[in-house]
Amino acid sequence: MIAFNKTKIIATIGPASANEKVVRSMIEAGMDVVRLNFSHGNHESHAKMIELVNKLNKKLGTNVGILADLQGPKIRLGEVAEDVILKEGDTIILTTKKTKGTANKLYVTYEDFAVDVGKHERILIDDGKLELVSTGSNGRDEVKAKVIYGGKVSSKKGINLPDTNISTPSLTAKDKVDLEFILTQNVHWIALSFVRSADDITKLKGMLQFRDHPAKVIAKIEKPEAVADIDNIIRATDAIMVARGDLGVEVPLQNVPIIQKEIVHKCLQACKPVIIATQMMESMMVNPSPSRAEVTDVSSAIYEGADALMLSGETAVGRHPAKVVETFSKVIKSIETQETIYNRLKETDQESETYLADSICYIACQLAAQVDAKAIIGMTKSGYTAFTLSSHRPKAFIYIFTESDELLNMVSLIWGVRAFPYHKFVSTDETINDVQNDLKARNLIRSGDIVINTGITPLNQKGRTNMVKVTRIK
Ligand code: PEP
Repeated sequence: MIAFNKTKIIATIGPASANEKVVRSMIEAGMDVVRLNFSHGNHESHAKMIELVNKLNKKLGTNVGILADLQGPKIRLGEVAEDVILKEGDTIILTTKKTKGTANKLYVTYEDFAVDVGKHERILIDDGKLELVSTGSNGRDEVKAKVIYGGKVSSKKGINLPDTNISTPSLTAKDKVDLEFILTQNVHWIALSFVRSADDITKLKGMLQFRDHPAKVIAKIEKPEAVADIDNIIRATDAIMVARGDLGVEVPLQNVPIIQKEIVHKCLQACKPVIIATQMMESMMVNPSPSRAEVTDVSSAIYEGADALMLSGETAVGRHPAKVVETFSKVIKSIETQETIYNRLKETDQESETYLADSICYIACQLAAQVDAKAIIGMTKSGYTAFTLSSHRPKAFIYIFTESDELLNMVSLIWGVRAFPYHKFVSTDETINDVQNDLKARNLIRSGDIVINTGITPLNQKGRTNMVKVTRIK
């Protein structure tokens, strides 16, 4: 029996999990979406994983979605010699000319590093474990920097520049090559890293539209510029990821919980799915069980209203990829017994062009609470009904029927939603009968249950959701 919770689990695939046995046990433990991190691996390995997930979906009758995560303008150190230690107070050179790094000179992979970094700006290495301050740049290829907090440096470690305006676009040359590959694949979500403004998202969405690819876009929030433009980004994007790893280096660490809470709240209001990512069960990289603090962090994200929680290193390179998914699942199950997480009904916007459909979804959720419905059953072509019903966080499960194959897996990331195919084009009464019988056959509803159906009538109008019906199942 496959675990199914309302809060969804995204797990990153890496060397620890890139094989059929482990992926299968992760699905059985409750993984809803596989994340392919384009900072690692290659197109061949990603294509193989997509093929494997498709195969397992068929075998297990699941709809695990695929999330392709573009690296974006991540700045990294190049190769560094063995045992290089930076000492506090030393001055070193950071160069953009390829060289093997030493304690005096380190190679940085970002071409415009010396153009962008100004005097007195911080240079953080390895998630901020090492801190340097620029003492000046030659404006071409070298920056001099004083070591404030030193330590060991090793090859390919990430660099964050929280005080610098990075001039490179969010979609880098590497991202464009990766995107070309992704567009040939059955991918349901594409995440863009280091988003700085809504414009970054609009451009990516334009590219997908131009190529007629149905994937939805996730804006990763990990730069202070993105936090400042969050309302416009939420409006432009399909979903948000609070990427706490880089965010916690780019903004003061103590601000991360405040930003997380605010973004979750705004996303719920805007019907945009929101993912909380990074270090959620970091200690399970090694240990077979999480720390109490990690369990509490995961629980807080569920209480706040996150759609999905994401595992990174834990499942990519950790020792217990399936166990960590199982542990996530247990915590989610426990918190989902709590009434306070449900029925966050919010008013609909009278000015919105979707006001009528939004009102039907609102009423469906309100009615579900009033009659203690087991399920809300919606029909959708675009996914809109799924996003909208979910954003009210009804206690009833949301079962969505659709003729679109892509949507079946795409909605796996959305809180509380499960999707099933429906290809017939018959009367509204017949459709309602069909989908209720389908759910009965799947043992998801049974005789005596109360369910709410939303739909479109008359059927040939092909507009937005405009009706709601309540039924006691015979
Ligand atoms: C993060 O920084 O939290 C994150 C999810 O991004 P990545 O894993 O791509 O560094």
